[in-house]
Amino acid sequence: MTWLGLLKGLPASKPAFWFPLSLVTGALCYAFYYKVKKEEFGMEFLFSLLLLPAGGIQFFQAGIVRPVYFPLLALAASYFSLTTLLVALGLFALQIPVSLITGMPGIRTFLDMTNPLEEGLFLISLAATAGVSSVLFRKMRMARAEAETSLSAIHEKAREIGRETAMESLSTEESLSHYFASMLRTDEEIGELLVAIKHAVFADSATLFVPESAAFRLRCSTEGKGEVIITGAGAIANCMRDKKTFSAGEVDEKKFKLGYMKTMKVVSVIVVPIMEGTSLIGVLAVDSSRAHAFSEPDRSSIERFAGQLVRILERERIYFMIKRDVFGLRILKEESSNLITSLNRDVIARKLCEGAEKISVSQIFLFAGSGSRFSLLHHNTGRPFPVKLFSFEKTIVNFAVDNQHRHYVRDLREYPIPVMPFETEGIRSVLAIPLMYERTVLGIMVMLSEQVDFLDSLQISLLEVLCNQASTSLANARLHSRIEKLATTDGLTGLFNHRVFQEKFSEELKRQARTAEPVSLLLTDIDFFKKVNDTYGHPVGDLVLKGVSKLISATLRDIDIPARYGGEEFAVILPGTDGPGAKIIAERLRNAVMEKTFSSEEKTFSVTLSIGIAVSPFDAKRKEELIEKADQALYHAKHNGRNQSVLWSMTK
Ligand code: GH3
Ligand code: MG
Ligand code: MG
Repeated sequence: MTWLGLLKGLPASKPAFWFPLSLVTGALCYAFYYKVKKEEFGMEFLFSLLLLPAGGIQFFQAGIVRPVYFPLLALAASYFSLTTLLVALGLFALQIPVSLITGMPGIRTFLDMTNPLEEGLFLISLAATAGVSSVLFRKMRMARAEAETSLSAIHEKAREIGRETAMESLSTEESLSHYFASMLRTDEEIGELLVAIKHAVFADSATLFVPESAAFRLRCSTEGKGEVIITGAGAIANCMRDKKTFSAGEVDEKKFKLGYMKTMKVVSVIVVPIMEGTSLIGVLAVDSSRAHAFSEPDRSSIERFAGQLVRILERERIYFMIKRDVFGLRILKEESSNLITSLNRDVIARKLCEGAEKISVSQIFLFAGSGSRFSLLHHNTGRPFPVKLFSFEKTIVNFAVDNQHRHYVRDLREYPIPVMPFETEGIRSVLAIPLMYERTVLGIMVMLSEQVDFLDSLQISLLEVLCNQASTSLANARLHSRIEKLATTDGLTGLFNHRVFQEKFSEELKRQARTAEPVSLLLTDIDFFKKVNDTYGHPVGDLVLKGVSKLISATLRDIDIPARYGGEEFAVILPGTDGPGAKIIAERLRNAVMEKTFSSEEKTFSVTLSIGIAVSPFDAKRKEELIEKADQALYHAKHNGRNQSVLWSMTK
């Protein structure tokens, strides 16, 4: 209707009727298509839009302003396909025959047919504008669609990882490493996303910067390696500080500091902060060498992409956290069980140092003891320590001993006192953890580093747990050695008891059988010991037993094995010793005892020993037989005046 009105020249003759009618028609087309039907503009709407300027031109009789169709058509081309446009143009062209047939004047005023050539050129250029713009916009649309496809692929991937981790339990090593492997593709994913951003807004490049110790560093860029150079400060640093998006469309590089440089000039730029909650984790810079390259929708789509970057970076951060925790737990699991399996103090010390070294490579020392003196059990420095006993008085380590709590010094320049009781050159930080058991300090572990602040809180916690475990193990080891001593030694003399004597003698005889070396056995008995008890009392008798056992230990070689055989009788195993050798040792022992004086109530006295000797394999090979023969030799000694040693072989 409006079109026919246009042909009839209504815009000029009845403008008050035609213009409102056109507006209502246009609005109806808009409402029908955009709001009701498809959320898009129909061709009818375009056509009704095009009629309005045509009516205006008729009304003002101003054929000269017809070029207004060019931008209108270009705009339409950005929205409609070429075919739609050509149909619209065709409808326009239909006016010519229609107005000729109907004799309506519209076409004359509309096309102003005064100059047909000019009109022809006008129509051709109109069609060309529509064609070229349509092709151009079609290309842009395709690029955008491509970017959107890659973005949704990234989304999908992220969702997949989310699904996998939600479905699979994190308890198995396998699923953990699978999870980590997918996490490790972060750089790749960021790279893909930056390319998508670049395409989506027709930028020259997109670059991600991340904060690093008060400044920033380049994390990833669509530009090649080395093509983005950080110049520091500028818009990037400002964005990090203010946490606000910044955009500029006419950057003059001489006056404006961006914070980075590229081979291509940057004229338009959008700098977006990447926020995780309230903390900034990165800055995304999208730039172009064109002036005013980015529109408001571009800006919001860049911000949308930034949201995706947050998720990738967040995931990466969580990945590193989990990885650290898993690593820490694995060390704890392995090293703790290592520590539990041993009851040997030196082995525990070595294992603790090895475990601590896995948590942080540093100089590690383990001292045992309590009170003022500590002995160095283990260290990993390779340095010789001729002195093994140390006092931590007036050293930093002493804080840990005194407070019975770990002491960590990040930077030793703050402390004027020495770290250790010996020279430690170039050491910048120290951790000392006391090994506590029931409120007593069993020992102390010291870690030294040439690096300032060499440990973080997680590492310190792990080390504390390890030390805790080591303390329990050391306490167990101590308890174990006490129980073992109680079970194997004689309470009065400290010598092996009868049971251990039997075991050791069996072992020695077995060894002798292998090496064909002789083994001798001495059985000693104190002469008239009953008299000592009777004269000086039982406690003095005990002192004599202790004195004699000390003399026995002092007189023998290290390899000899003395034991309390029972009462006032002692047995001595002499490995690798034949009869004559055993006789010499027995005589030395007898003389040492004879020369020793004991005192009681100001009276002095001495005791003598009778000793019987049997030699394996000459006198016998079996243990029982050897003991029997040594006993016979002892009996012989007793009967021949006591205070003498007798070889069994000499009694026959
Ligand atoms: P002989 O020269 O014949 O060996 O004479 P003796 O008096 O030593 O005789 P015998 O070996 O029979 O006596 C051992 C005595 O040692 C008996 C016992 O009271 C005493 N005795 C055994 N064990 C202990 C001990 O642990 N402490 C004390 N004080 N005396 C002990
Ligand atoms: Mg006896
Ligand atoms: Mg006796």
